[in-house]
Amino acid sequence: MSYTALYRKFRPASFAEVKGQDHIVTTLRNQLKAGRIGHAYLFTGTRGTGKTSVAKIFAKTVNCENPTEDGPCGECRICKAIAAGASMNVIEIDAASNNGVDNIREIVDEVAYSPAEGKYKVYIIDEVHMLSIGAFNALLKTLEEPPSYVIFILATTEVHKLPITILSRCQRYDFRRISIETIADRMKELVDQENVKVEDRALRYIAKVADGSMRDALSLLDQCIAFHIGNELTYDMALDVLGAVDTGVFSELLRHVLDRDVLACIKLLEDVVMQGRELTQFVTDFTWYLRNLMLVQSSDHLEDVIDVSSEHLARLKEEAAIVSFDQIVRYIRIFSNLAGQIKYASQKRILVEIALIKLCKPEMEISEDAMLDRIRQVEDDIKEAKQGGYVKVVEAGGTATAQAAIPAAEKPKLEKAVPEEIREVVRNWMGIVGNAQNPMKTYLKGAKLSLGAGNELVVALADGLPYDYFKNDEGNVEACERLIADFCGKEVKVSLSSFADANDFDNHFVDLSKVIQMEIEEEE
Ligand SMILES: [Zn+2]
Repeated sequence: MSYTALYRKFRPASFAEVKGQDHIVTTLRNQLKAGRIGHAYLFTGTRGTGKTSVAKIFAKTVNCENPTEDGPCGECRICKAIAAGASMNVIEIDAASNNGVDNIREIVDEVAYSPAEGKYKVYIIDEVHMLSIGAFNALLKTLEEPPSYVIFILATTEVHKLPITILSRCQRYDFRRISIETIADRMKELVDQENVKVEDRALRYIAKVADGSMRDALSLLDQCIAFHIGNELTYDMALDVLGAVDTGVFSELLRHVLDRDVLACIKLLEDVVMQGRELTQFVTDFTWYLRNLMLVQSSDHLEDVIDVSSEHLARLKEEAAIVSFDQIVRYIRIFSNLAGQIKYASQKRILVEIALIKLCKPEMEISEDAMLDRIRQVEDDIKEAKQGGYVKVVEAGGTATAQAAIPAAEKPKLEKAVPEEIREVVRNWMGIVGNAQNPMKTYLKGAKLSLGAGNELVVALADGLPYDYFKNDEGNVEACERLIADFCGKEVKVSLSSFADANDFDNHFVDLSKVIQMEIEEEE
């Protein structure tokens, strides 16, 4: 089977086949329908978004003998002549190679003669920003007062390079980047028509790489198909052909950064430079790698937004597990700043080195996420130290300077079931206390409750007045027991305790009100 490149074969021939530029197509259709055709159009937008295709369809339609809503009929004499390139009604000029004054003068001279057949002479000047100043000036006069049978369509990817005098004389149409969905859908149509089997994910990936350009998408698709002709084109094959970045080097780099090993990072960068890799691209790719890590961490079903083979996805998941979310966010921030600076920098390598050191040493930064990273570093050190039986004392510089033996405190645990009468007291504590007189009422309201070794109720009071009030008068403890008995109809023994603050209490006791609150929530 012979194979014609898709992007040649499927140039849009009608307005309906132009994808992703509905706003422009609708306006042009309306103008054609109403017969209100302009004489100077400017089509701008990134490459491969359909500027010249639309220009040609428009040029054919104005000349066609039987035009429809959808554009030229394709059957009449003039349509056929234009398609064969034998018509003098549609003249295409590539300004990149015809940018001088003389080239434009030639056009201006020709413009004087009305078309031999058909209604309009349409001049399509592609890459019009390439014209010299002299050429622009020569064009200007004709643009100002074109004969009624002349239409200029200027196309450019770099509209900011056009003189304002030209801009002000044209109807301007901005061609948008085409969405991934639109490109993928169009490719799906075409491959179905061609009986070529392609995985949907492969199409989406190609559409994404094409970055808004339908033409690029189709030629990338061509490349992939040509490589695996006769087979179904799978997602992994597309990744393979289009040279998805090998992420091995990035996982290695990430691991060095997590180890805070500056030297290893710098050495790895050296290897990258020696391999002749472009640093701007390297920075961009690493940023995307981090972005993928972040997404993998956030959800399980991201196959569509992360373009990596199944094998790489497994590794990404592994890596996502060893790095925290705010760490990744910090890394991304540093590297996307770097991507902005590095483009125009002469010392790219040094900039990358500085960024890597920043990643390894959060103490160099004062942003919030750097602080979090520093805290994490301290926590890691403490965890490590606990395992070794001591705690390193860490200074603001981030380095361990002294070692002191601090035994790790253990959280108290509730070892036995809480008796039912104690539960009842805890649940009703505020009601019980409500029947007391001040100051006892106030003190008991601030008390914390726990369970003693002999199943007695521990009433812990804040150090100072509240604790002293009960400690110095046994009668007050008995009064408290009476309050409970009156409210619940049960005898509950109270034992007294004290605490300095909430942390102090939590370090020594289990807070019964929390335990019971939790049980209630679980039941609900
Ligand atoms: Zn026709």
